[in-house]
Amino acid sequence: MARVFSGIQPSGELHIGNYLGAVQNWVQLQRQHECLFSVVDLHAITQPYDAASLPQRTLDMAIGLLASGLDPERCTLFVQSHVAEHSELNWLLNTVTPLGELERQTQFKDKSQRQESVPAGLLNYPVLQAADVLLYLATLVPVGEDQLQHLELMREIARRWNARFAQSGGFAFPEPQALLTASKRILGLDGQAKMSKSLGNTIGLLESPEAIWQKLRPAATDPARVTRKDPGNPDICNIFTIHQGFSPPEVQRTVAHNCRTAGWGCLDCKRVLADNMIATLTPIRERATALQGEPRTVGRILAAGADKARALARGTMSLVRRQMGFLDRAEA
Ligand code: SF4
Repeated sequence: MARVFSGIQPSGELHIGNYLGAVQNWVQLQRQHECLFSVVDLHAITQPYDAASLPQRTLDMAIGLLASGLDPERCTLFVQSHVAEHSELNWLLNTVTPLGELERQTQFKDKSQRQESVPAGLLNYPVLQAADVLLYLATLVPVGEDQLQHLELMREIARRWNARFAQSGGFAFPEPQALLTASKRILGLDGQAKMSKSLGNTIGLLESPEAIWQKLRPAATDPARVTRKDPGNPDICNIFTIHQGFSPPEVQRTVAHNCRTAGWGCLDCKRVLADNMIATLTPIRERATALQGEPRTVGRILAAGADKARALARGTMSLVRRQMGFLDRAEA
């Protein structure tokens, strides 16, 4: 059975973009592989952030994941900073990572342009990602197309460490493979940019049926449909992409037909989508509400997950430390 690692930042409540783009896939993967899923709070601090709300956002993200179907009996769910070995391996891998490769990363270039002063942590973000995966010797990493460059760098870091420290045998990191997520990229409700909480163009996974409808109503559609009589193209409409995540195949066919033939208006189309979204999301919202009333239970699940993850991480780190030449710590 392959081992899978994936992480999500503690942005608080999940939105439907996270759900369709990653979490729904994780729920399937936990039935097929040995999976470790982490709320990656160490990654979240590479951008300006609010320290006071970070604990609650971390807890809320864990609740959202559990409510969406991650099962602590089938996967290991934990908070990244609860396993200190992530930071340790990050530092060690920094020493074999070429600076030029980090500077070439598209996400670094994008994010650093938006900041007056660029913290070194933003540059080294992909090294921490490599540490996250290599620490558990995970061989599969579910990624979207936009993460492929980081995955390739992760493989390069593993190769460089192996070439430097595993040449004469012993332990070597496996090179992780990408598990490309099949789902299409969901744009925000503005139809312009990726769905992102910071852009305010999301529908939260736990929103009420009324709130879902109020957000969906004005959402962007195919601009060719100026009036109800104008036919549209579902292939370029973000509402149709969301239908593909929530509506059954026969409904999707009806949507595509009615769109191309101007058989209905966009509001009719959105109402059908809203009903299907509400049907999927209501049980998730109900489970989340129950978990919000039991923060200690969630805390215990995360602590047990961190214990399991730490046991694996310690095994890797003792091999890594030995091969990098560090003196064994004497027992007190
Ligand atoms: S009918 Fe539906 S798929 Fe077609 S443009 Fe309108 S919202 Fe989009």
